[in-house]
Amino acid sequence: MEMDKLVSLCKRRGFLFQSSEIYGGLNGFWDYGPLGVELKRNVKESWWRDMISGHNDRSTIPGAPSAYEMSGLDSTIIMHPQIWKCSGHYDLFHDFMVDCRETKRRFRHDQVCGRWVKRGDQRVFVAAEEGEQQEEVIQKQALKFFQLRNKDAEQLQWDGPVVSLTTLDSFEAVLGPDAKTVGTLTPPREFNLMFKTFVGALSGEEGAAYLRPETAQGIFVNFKNVVDSTRMRIPFGIAQIGKSFRNEITPRNFTFRSREFEQMEIEFFCHPTQSPAWYQYWRDRRYRWYTDLGLSSDRLRLRDHHTEELSHYSTGTADIEYAFPFLPAGSFGELEGIAHRGDFDLRSHMEGKLDPHTRPLEVEKDAHGQPRWRGSGKDLSYRDDLTNERFVPHVIEPSAGADRATLAFLCEAYCEDEAPDDSGQLQTRVVLKLHPRLAPVKAAIFPLVKKDGMPELADEIYGELKRSFNVFYDEKGAVGRRYRRQDEAGTPYCITVDGQSLKDRTVTIRDRDTLEQVRVKIEDCTSLLRDRVT
Ligand code: ATP
Repeated sequence: MEMDKLVSLCKRRGFLFQSSEIYGGLNGFWDYGPLGVELKRNVKESWWRDMISGHNDRSTIPGAPSAYEMSGLDSTIIMHPQIWKCSGHYDLFHDFMVDCRETKRRFRHDQVCGRWVKRGDQRVFVAAEEGEQQEEVIQKQALKFFQLRNKDAEQLQWDGPVVSLTTLDSFEAVLGPDAKTVGTLTPPREFNLMFKTFVGALSGEEGAAYLRPETAQGIFVNFKNVVDSTRMRIPFGIAQIGKSFRNEITPRNFTFRSREFEQMEIEFFCHPTQSPAWYQYWRDRRYRWYTDLGLSSDRLRLRDHHTEELSHYSTGTADIEYAFPFLPAGSFGELEGIAHRGDFDLRSHMEGKLDPHTRPLEVEKDAHGQPRWRGSGKDLSYRDDLTNERFVPHVIEPSAGADRATLAFLCEAYCEDEAPDDSGQLQTRVVLKLHPRLAPVKAAIFPLVKKDGMPELADEIYGELKRSFNVFYDEKGAVGRRYRRQDEAGTPYCITVDGQSLKDRTVTIRDRDTLEQVRVKIEDCTSLLRDRVT
């Protein structure tokens, strides 16, 4: 599937618009249109229902109860700045950026790659942004630089494979992406990804605060409130869906890397001895969630991090990754990370941020010589009221992105096939084969023609179904054209009122994917839809 086709469908049919478009847009920000907002809500609601409100999954972990509880939370976007110090985001949540003095473009250091090439006595590292056809781009750029024509490509003497810019110590011989002169890239500089703001009337650092870069910390800092206000016993999970903000250096690939996005995160608290088993459990359960909702296992993979990729506190992390069509063939992009976080987070909020050897880091002092950043000093341990054991729970964190999941479902659903038009001739159609639970509109109701009482009966059915589902009424144009519009919107069922409906109160239901039409009683429509779309 070509990504351009999906992007234009999203705009044309109102799934996604560039934010602030009439003012030229704002890079890294996206608005969901009338169909998009329903799709994304369905993604989030499916997650919430499957993981929290409707959760009734059982585990078979030795020593752990098979049933466990899940609850929700909605914490604020702006929180006490000390939270970000203790979580490590204040000091460590940065990317390295590189600027080009010639093109004025900015890159993420780790997202530029290139290849050494020699001609005569000049040796240059020709750089390009990571992505599709990078080898071709590098070759083109090298030919241009050495003023060679395509047919002279063999005159270039390549010196080694394509490697990341991060492998170079100096950029003196680097030809930046799209640059004409060598050596215009600045050395990498640290760039904290948190958006800064100021709370209240205080303008200086006193009032400085940050938009949250993840929803997880809101859960950790409320751990004690949740334990004290519910009767949940460990193991249990607390979940949250909400906006997060990251000032990404190079937002790109449609909504995949945005600066404002939504996360769906679970912090699952368990006994330390059982945490490795719970980690496996969540890793597998979360993978299944995506395949149950239609992602093909050919394009979805569960990738365990290598030991050297793991944070010092983590004994296991796995990413669920999808082969997005905008990535080079064979590459995958992260949909969700599942991390075994040990007791790192709760301990950090108790004691202050810890270094790998669990000693509190040196703290900054305020004007009065008092430590400015430290843990809350609150006891965030848990006491098991049956065994009387007190411990700091371990945490398993399945952390998903609502926008990336929505985008993956859209990519997977986009399809072009053939269907007969009104005259019975096969025509290419664009169809979004979204899982019925995710489809923005569950059914469309059409009167075959706009007369003979058909619109009135169709309207009656519409009114009845609307009480339970997001359905759509359409009486404009030829019925084949109306089907096509619904196919593009991903509507799984089209219900048509025809001459026979007036006689025997039956309608036809057309299936979006099989194109089969069956005749059913009007009174059965609600239960039929309920069985198939919820
Ligand atoms: P990446 O390596 O792609 O930047 P990450 O490892 O930093 O992602 P996490 O911090 O683990 O991501 O965040 C959890 C989830 O939040 C990700 O799996 C992804 O689905 C989502 N997410 C993170 N950053 C973004 C973003 N800039 N735009 C959209 N979704 C995001």
